[in-house]
Amino acid sequence: MSSKIHSLHTARLKNNCPTCFGTDGMEFTFTQTEKETLFFKKPATKIDNRLYCHTCKNDIYPVSWTEDIERVFDYNKKIAETNKQYLKVKPLFYILVIVAIVLVAAIVYLLIPTV
Ligand SMILES: [Zn+2]
Repeated sequence: MSSKIHSLHTARLKNNCPTCFGTDGMEFTFTQTEKETLFFKKPATKIDNRLYCHTCKNDIYPVSWTEDIERVFDYNKKIAETNKQYLKVKPLFYILVIVAIVLVAAIVYLLIPTV
């Protein structure tokens, strides 16, 4: 089983950075982890987010977010939600379903006594 991280949405902020007070360095990144099995691609229901300041090269943790940052976060989270990945069934799954149907049909056919 492998997992992959999808970038759903990124947004540059014009808010003041709580660390360096720069106004053009902060960026939100929304990601979603997807686990891949032989039959399914199963994305996590939870979206991960990160606020990073490119000016002072720091992660800005929610504890230091201002009300304005929170408002921008809520807005961008909604956009990220619309890009969310959903459960994907791989072709192998369908092939197995078809094989199963054929097998059942063959068994039923063999079990019916021929006159
Ligand atoms: Zn900063």
